[in-house]
Amino acid sequence: MYLKSLVLKGFKSFADRSALTLEPGITAIVGPNGSGKSNISDAVLWVLGERNAKNLRGQAMEDVIFAGSSARKGAALAEVDLVLDNSCGTLPVDYSEVVITRRMHRSGESEYLINGTVARRLDVLDILHDSGLGSGTHSIISQGNLDSVLASKPEDRRALVEEAAGVLKHKQRKAKSERK
Ligand code: ATP
Ligand code: MG
Repeated sequence: MYLKSLVLKGFKSFADRSALTLEPGITAIVGPNGSGKSNISDAVLWVLGERNAKNLRGQAMEDVIFAGSSARKGAALAEVDLVLDNSCGTLPVDYSEVVITRRMHRSGESEYLINGTVARRLDVLDILHDSGLGSGTHSIISQGNLDSVLASKPEDRRALVEEAAGVLKHKQRKAKSERK
C-alpha cells in the first residue's frame, strides 16, 4: 500500500484545488518557510480522522478552512482526498484504490466518504485499523513530536518501534485474549 495522491481544496493555504501525485518510495517536499509543507501533512492527519485542532496547529477545527487573503475571500469548505494504492490488498476492502475524503463546511457540518460513498469516521478508522496508518499511530511525526521521541524513555521508544513494525497490535490482542 502506498499514498498515491492527495488532493486539497480550500484546505489551509491551498485555496485552489491542488493535487499532489506521489510514487512508491520516498518523497521529499521542499519549499521556503511558510509555503505550506506542514499544511500538507496536516491534511493527511485531518483526512484520516484527526479531531484535535491543536494537532493540526490550529485553535479550532474551522482553522483548516482557507481563511482568505487580501486578494480573495475565504473558502466555504475544506476538502481533502487521500488516494491509497491498495493493489497489494493491505486494506481489507475489494478495491485496488481507496479514496478517503473528508469535507468540512464553515457551518460546522462535516462528512467522510470512502470511494465516493458517505461513511462514518469509524468506517475510515476501521479500514485503516491494521495498516499502521491513521490517527493515534506514528505514521506522522510532527516537528515538535520528534523532540519528544528523542527525549523519551527507552521503553516508550521501544513501543514506538513496535508500533511501526506492526508488533504492537499483536501484543494488544494477546493481552486482550489473556484477560478473557
Ligand atoms: P516551515 O518551513 O516554516 O515549517 P511550512 O512550509 O511548513 O513552513 P506551513 O506551516 O505549512 O509552512 O504553512 C504556513 C502558512 O499557511 C502560513 O502562511 C499561514 O498563514 C497559512 N495558513 C495556515 N492556515 C491557513 C488558513 N486557514 N487559511 C489560509 N492560510 C493558512
Ligand atoms: Mg513546517
